[in-house]
Amino acid sequence: MNYKLNYYFSILLLLTSLNLQAQKKYVLVVHGGAGTILKKSMTPEKEAAYTAALTKALQHGYDAIKSGKTSLDAVEAAIHVLEDSPLFNAGKGAVFTHDGKNEMDAAIMEGKSLKAGAVAGVTVIRNPITAARAVMEKSEHVMMVDRGAEQFAEQCGVEIVDPKYFYTKERWDGLQQAIKEDSVKAVLDHGNKKSMKLGTINRDYKFGTVGAVALDKMGNLAAGTSTGGMTNKKYGRVGDSPIIGAGTYANNLTAGISCTGWGEFYIRSVVAYDVSAMMEYKNLSVSDASKTALDKMEKLGGDGGLIALDKNGNVAMPFNTEGMYRGTVTEDGKIEVLIYK
Ligand code: ASP
Repeated sequence: MNYKLNYYFSILLLLTSLNLQAQKKYVLVVHGGAGTILKKSMTPEKEAAYTAALTKALQHGYDAIKSGKTSLDAVEAAIHVLEDSPLFNAGKGAVFTHDGKNEMDAAIMEGKSLKAGAVAGVTVIRNPITAARAVMEKSEHVMMVDRGAEQFAEQCGVEIVDPKYFYTKERWDGLQQAIKEDSVKAVLDHGNKKSMKLGTINRDYKFGTVGAVALDKMGNLAAGTSTGGMTNKKYGRVGDSPIIGAGTYANNLTAGISCTGWGEFYIRSVVAYDVSAMMEYKNLSVSDASKTALDKMEKLGGDGGLIALDKNGNVAMPFNTEGMYRGTVTEDGKIEVLIYK
């Protein structure tokens, strides 16, 4: 009799835990770039610093959602933390162009209205994601570049800084190294063996673009991405991050998506929109759509990863590099940060 009771009790426990797992709802997901991120080449101090920065970003975003703010507010809050950290290739930690400048790109999109804003090639805006949001909310345009974008941001009250603010020794040394190795090639901030073989990656870069996707209490999704692009880039090169549909996309019918990787391939594969389209037209789950879109991009020769959060709070974070700085927070405020495979 006792044995039978125990048996029924364990079944009940199992079903309850399965149900709880099924109900786990994610409200925010962030990334800090994908790349050659190996445990063996990471010091405990560095690992702790990355984990702390990603945790802080998730906490700031979560606080916004918890207090009833919009998914756009949460995305902006989370990305601000990562832009202000020298650890990531965005804002303060942006890489240098061939000419020794920091030219940054960012985009933000709202899933409810399909409104979007983006800036590219900006050099004096402390938080490019805020400038992207200003383009979305305070202009009739979607994308502004260079000095025009800076002028508009300033008029909107977005914080302007001296370009010197973006100087970090590590990034400057990275540029000198890239120029020494090959003065012509721009260098990605990440890469796997395949891209190294193709000659695009010539050192073990570990820092990356940042992004966030949030789902607020009203059920609205938003996605944002911010980057310094590629070390040693020239001629006003712009990657996928500020291009709506390529590196950033959000649609309440499907998911919010932010990408990180070899930008040219993400542009050609229209990766972020591809995820959304497969969910909308083929009814694929967020994880199947994300994986399929990434595989298609990889077949062209690119590498990287993406984060995606669907309208029901399911998350996908696939990547085809050695690692990707990433983290999630669930409805109950539980934060998880991951770095390696
Ligand atoms: N996708 C970005 C670019 O190509 C780089 C990155 O994700 O680190 O500009």
